[in-house]
Amino acid sequence: MEDLFEEVRAIEARLSNMCVSVNLTVSSGDELKTLMRLASAVKNTADRVLALGAAEIHQRSRRELGPAGLAKAEGHVNPQSMIALLTGCSRSEAKKLDGLGKSIMQAAPLPRPNEALDTSDGSPITPPWHAAISARMIAGDITPDRFEALRAGLGETTDRLSSAELSAAAEQVLSFLHADDLPETVYRDARAARALLDRAGVAETEKEQYARQQAKIWRDREGMVHLNAVFAPEDGSFVKNTLDLLLGPRIGGPRSAGKKAVAEAQALADDPRTVEQLTAGALVALVKAGAAVEHSTVLAKKRPAVQIVVTAAELTRPDGDGIAFIEGTGVPVTMTTVDRLVCDSGYQPIMVAADGSPLDLGREHRLFQPAQRLVLNATQGGCVWPGCEKPPSFCEIHHIEHWHTGGKTDIQDGVLLCKHHHLLLHSNEWRINRTTSHDDRYENRYWLTPPSSVDPRRQPRQLRFSGVVRRNPALATAGGDRRRA
Ligand SMILES: [Zn+2]
Ligand SMILES: [Zn+2]
Repeated sequence: MEDLFEEVRAIEARLSNMCVSVNLTVSSGDELKTLMRLASAVKNTADRVLALGAAEIHQRSRRELGPAGLAKAEGHVNPQSMIALLTGCSRSEAKKLDGLGKSIMQAAPLPRPNEALDTSDGSPITPPWHAAISARMIAGDITPDRFEALRAGLGETTDRLSSAELSAAAEQVLSFLHADDLPETVYRDARAARALLDRAGVAETEKEQYARQQAKIWRDREGMVHLNAVFAPEDGSFVKNTLDLLLGPRIGGPRSAGKKAVAEAQALADDPRTVEQLTAGALVALVKAGAAVEHSTVLAKKRPAVQIVVTAAELTRPDGDGIAFIEGTGVPVTMTTVDRLVCDSGYQPIMVAADGSPLDLGREHRLFQPAQRLVLNATQGGCVWPGCEKPPSFCEIHHIEHWHTGGKTDIQDGVLLCKHHHLLLHSNEWRINRTTSHDDRYENRYWLTPPSSVDPRRQPRQLRFSGVVRRNPALATAGGDRRRA
């Protein structure tokens, strides 16, 4: 161990020295990017070491050891607070490390020369479903953040869900991942994959989340009224979408068309109040409008809604146990919820190819039809810019070939971009283009090419869509002949 410590100390000293001696103000853009990538590689490796250490602390502090366990013996309430104190990290960070350590410990219990077998009856310990991905994380194949997102998103085994099924689902989700995908995206994909494997579980979760929905409202002695609320995904989406719609111009929502709407948007953008102050005002206005329905002007012509995406295959399942997803969030809901929403607000059938790519509706118009917009929302799932998480309601449609240069508005040439990325694309010589691969006859690929100021070689990066129809490996398989390159 001493040799290892020496090496780590030397690396740490060099890095630390670099912080003082290197002047980044004179670095080129490429150098700066390389530095960030290298530093994050160091951080990921250090995170893995921390996770292994946390695993060992966890093992030596396990409950059956009582006060003799490491954490307790050192005066800590639990391993988490020991980790927090040792590393100086935040409580939530320590919790994450402890969780990672626990997963590693369950997945790969190491042989211990000085201890008897863990199980008192000597029966073999069954490894958890995530044993294989734990091993890949330790080997540096998957970052700890992604591992954690996968494990949490896929959840635990149940009577209905075996270890083998979960571990196969993890491999499938991993095979669809892209280098740019955030842990949030990994979690969403993992959760969607679980929903399709455990349909009954979706109904249970839905019920349980509704039970947790609550709002508390109270007045303090000054007379200020406080509101603290938590909503289940579907109702919460309605609340959030409505407020997003009202505050759109301030929080990166799409631009408005029409003189009056543009002026209103500008007024909101220039409003000196904070977003939180505006949100409070909007909530009050909504409650007032609700109390006087006939002369409500708050929403004017805007219509908030919760969009649910369901595929025909799921809709027509004989047992009625199909799964749908709340657009822009990837949260699974049951057919009962879909039926209720269809009854209330109707539905719009859309067609996509078996591989999830949009079918051309055959119209040539300058602007995309509402139906085409729905297809794009379902397949692209929000802003397609790498790393951007804006939902479809925040997006504008970018035409790959501009109509004024002779391009027709074929739906396959529409991509969703949030206002920020749409403006960036147009003002900064970024390009998006589409190619159709010959091996996958119907598969379109979309590419983002940076301007030479960002990447002198102008190397295109493939864009990935996060729409439910397109993204989910299990759905794609159910859809038929999706092939991967
Ligand atoms: Zn555009
Ligand atoms: Zn964006």
